[in-house]
Amino acid sequence: MKNSKKYSGANRFSHIYVEDRALEYDVADILLNRFKYARIIPIKHYKNVFNRPRQNFWLQKNYQNIILAVKDEPFLYEGPEICENFGNRHFYYASAVLNCIYDCHYCYLQGMYQSANIVIFVNIEDFFKAVDRKLSLLGSMYLCTSYDTDLLALEGILPYSRKWIEFASSREELIMEIRTKSANYGKISDLAPCPNVILAWTLSPDEIIQKYEKGTPSLDARIDAICKAIDDGWNVRLSLEPLIEINGWESIYKDFIDKVCTTLPMDKIYDVNVGVFRMNREYFKKIGKNRFDTDIFSHQMDVDDGVVYYKNENDMEVAVAKELFKYLPSKKIYV
Ligand code: SF4
Repeated sequence: MKNSKKYSGANRFSHIYVEDRALEYDVADILLNRFKYARIIPIKHYKNVFNRPRQNFWLQKNYQNIILAVKDEPFLYEGPEICENFGNRHFYYASAVLNCIYDCHYCYLQGMYQSANIVIFVNIEDFFKAVDRKLSLLGSMYLCTSYDTDLLALEGILPYSRKWIEFASSREELIMEIRTKSANYGKISDLAPCPNVILAWTLSPDEIIQKYEKGTPSLDARIDAICKAIDDGWNVRLSLEPLIEINGWESIYKDFIDKVCTTLPMDKIYDVNVGVFRMNREYFKKIGKNRFDTDIFSHQMDVDDGVVYYKNENDMEVAVAKELFKYLPSKKIYV
């Protein structure tokens, strides 16, 4: 993986903020040993650091630090309307990590959080207990575990994808999605494929990756990882979002879909979802005012119910779906 060295080196994080109560957990021990040269700063509560006003998210992004914390209720949130539920009832997500080592220009986390530091909740078992409680109440659940971060990208330092998969493997009534842009499949490839876990790779054309998905692996690297996962028998979802409107998007996305669909064994793909770039209006305004290395936020957008979207978003989705229909039955495509 392109970034594995940078992000797993012992000097990667210069400071680690630690809640007193987090010290009792094994995950804290593992991380403090791994980054033994980092300066440890004891804190009472992660929000005192993470939510402090007037922080510069974008400056911090270049010097990210870790905050080790203990999560209190709630451990699960209802899936937002803006996100695809793939026809599942009881759609929830869990965020055992906040923030990401990648720096996609369009990432909503920049609008949502005051800080770019990575919060790691060390009490992962409490998330598991919350899922079990919900399962006994509802009977089934669709759970996304990698929404406010890229969990697999962190697997080299924090084996949470592994832990979630091991947890899901004994709970058939749980359908779990782990979404990633990483090429880190090797970190979990020793695990037996779990029929109720979906590994979802977000894919974009290389033109978009190079311009807007800073720090992420290339399309080829992601495709390699997907091929290995499929060979090993995993359910693999392709997530073609966010579609970004750039000059020549029609031919760029057509070539991209041709490449993806002729390289991957499409008959073995679990499903595909397509979604155009959209964002909460307040986040869009905040990021646009503060981020000067991108043209994403200078686009003219429409607004509906507090969400901004491209004027031609339907055209983009229809065009991309039309290309996909050449390779996949419509029942496997979510637009
Ligand atoms: S991979 Fe996802 S969470 Fe990470 S920066 Fe990109 S959009 Fe944000």
